[in-house]
Amino acid sequence: MDLLLIEDDDAIAASLHEPLTRAGFVVNRFDRGAAALEQLRDAPVDVVLLDLGLPDMDGYDVCRQIRATSNVPVIVVTARSDEFDRVLGLELGADDYMVKPLGARELIARIRAVLRRTGSPSTPADGRTTGSPATGGSVTDDGTAITVGPLTIDHRTHRATLDGESLALTPKEFDLLGYLAEDPGAVRTRTDIIERVWDANWFGPTKTLDAHVAGIRRKLGDRQWIEAVRGVGFRLVAPSEWPA
Ligand code: CA
Repeated sequence: MDLLLIEDDDAIAASLHEPLTRAGFVVNRFDRGAAALEQLRDAPVDVVLLDLGLPDMDGYDVCRQIRATSNVPVIVVTARSDEFDRVLGLELGADDYMVKPLGARELIARIRAVLRRTGSPSTPADGRTTGSPATGGSVTDDGTAITVGPLTIDHRTHRATLDGESLALTPKEFDLLGYLAEDPGAVRTRTDIIERVWDANWFGPTKTLDAHVAGIRRKLGDRQWIEAVRGVGFRLVAPSEWPA
C-alpha cells in the first residue's frame, strides 16, 4: 500500500511514519503541495493524507487538483476544526477529514475504512478496540447502548440521541461523550480523555479538547451536561443531578 503524506511539519510526519509503516503502508512524504502533485502525476498511490496548512499552496487547492485527475482516496488532516472547513473539505472531494490532535491508531483505522469504502485493495482488519463500560448512577448499559436520563449513546450504531432525537455529533464528539457517559458523575482527567479518545500518540494543542466539549454542549442544548472541573478534567452530569 503506497501512501502519499503531504505534511510540512517534520515532527508530525515523523510521528506518523513508524505506525503507518508498521501498519503496512509505504510512506512517501512531501512537505510542499506542488512537489506532491508532481509526484502523484508520475507515480499513483493508494491513498493520500493531506495537511491543509502547507507553506507553498493552500491544501484545498491541492485537494482540488488531485480530484481533477484522480480518484485516489484523500484524507484531509488539519488543525482547523470548524464546520465550514469540514464541509468544504468534503465538498472538494476529500474522502474523510480528521482534526488534529489525532492519534496514529485512529488515523490508521480511518485510512482502512476509507480504503474499504472506496473499494481499494483489501487491507488487514483494523485493531480498533472499545473499552468495557462501567455502570453506575442513572446509567443503563445493555452492552451496546448507555442511557443517561434522556441521553442514549449506542455504540453499535454509533449514534447518540437526546429525547429520541438524533444528535449530529462528529466521530470525536461521539467518542468523547461516550467515554464521559460510561460513568456519569466521575471526573475524567484531560490526560485520560486525550489518551482514550485521541489515543496515546496524540499531538497538537489540548484546546482541541475544549473545542469538542463546547461542540457537544451546544448540540446537547445545555452546558450543564458537561461540567469542567478546573485543573483536572470533565465529567458528565445527568439532568437529575442539575441544581434546581
Ligand atoms: Ca501544516
